[in-house]
Amino acid sequence: MHFRSAVRTLAACACGFACASPSLAWDCQGHRAIALLGLDAFQQSTPDFPDWLKPESARIAAASNACEADRFRALRAPLYLTHENDPDHYLDIEKLEQFGLTLSTVPPLRYEYVRAMVVAKHEHPDNTDPYNPMMDPARRQEFPGYGAHAVMEWHGKVASSFKVVRTLEKLNDPGRQVELDAARTNALYSMGMLAHFTGDLAQPLHTTKHHHGWLGDNPEGFTTDRKIHAFIDGEVLVIHQLDYDTLKPTFKPERTAQADPWRDVLDHIQRSHDRVRDIYTQVKSGDLEKAPGKALITERLQDGGAMLGALYASAWKLSEPDAKDVEAFIRYDRWGGIKDVKPNPEARPKP
Ligand SMILES: [Zn+2]
Repeated sequence: MHFRSAVRTLAACACGFACASPSLAWDCQGHRAIALLGLDAFQQSTPDFPDWLKPESARIAAASNACEADRFRALRAPLYLTHENDPDHYLDIEKLEQFGLTLSTVPPLRYEYVRAMVVAKHEHPDNTDPYNPMMDPARRQEFPGYGAHAVMEWHGKVASSFKVVRTLEKLNDPGRQVELDAARTNALYSMGMLAHFTGDLAQPLHTTKHHHGWLGDNPEGFTTDRKIHAFIDGEVLVIHQLDYDTLKPTFKPERTAQADPWRDVLDHIQRSHDRVRDIYTQVKSGDLEKAPGKALITERLQDGGAMLGALYASAWKLSEPDAKDVEAFIRYDRWGGIKDVKPNPEARPKP
């Protein structure tokens, strides 16, 4: 075995059913680094980058929030959050085929994607992998995962958070300072969540059914040890001393993202998936702990940061409020209490 015997045992493995599910992806060290690289990329590409995102305190807050989606996983019961949150951290590309899908034909809207899979499974039950709900109390393992959708939805939430901040800044009302502070805090939370899921998909083992060791046909004799996942998430970063400070000097933020970044996100996932075999090959040869491994993991973390910066910049461009947005915000916000708002006769439905 080429990786260190001291690799941590996943806490989830204490219970049998949890062992079949993916673990956390990059430890907080990796997610934090991707968030900070993403902020740098965003700043470099955005001439009107906001001043309130520049202080170290704001950067640290966004980076800390990049670990929040994994903290959700520490709550083991009740199961509602586990059911909703866990499959957002990955997309096992090879498992799409049994539902008649490929990465490029996955429906971009989450519930249309679910519907397509449910219909395919109903019509061709023999095509799908056996699934035993009794072994999966949180019902999170039946489908290939929602990582792409999580990124798209948090991209939208970041754009919305930015828009609220910019609307309140336009109003420039000292009486709304608390509201503005809260809006900026919300934006830092959304930015952290987007950083998490974008970072997860830069980890190749979050794009494959081989997430905890090689499955099925294995002519090349790749490891089947499930510890490979936690090793890539964290131990490899420790071995190669990879964090924001060591990744920044060679970071080239060369990604861009459209206003609707769905295709950009699919490309991001494919680039990561293309490295799955390289990871297993390097584990087998021992190269993962040497210079080739350092280069591979550096490339993955920096690509995560570059993609995140592009998504932040895309969300920023979507978030410029116009006069109508500001007017609508005031109308629905009703700051100061309902007593200050005059009834609008036109709002009454016809009897
Ligand atoms: Zn994750």
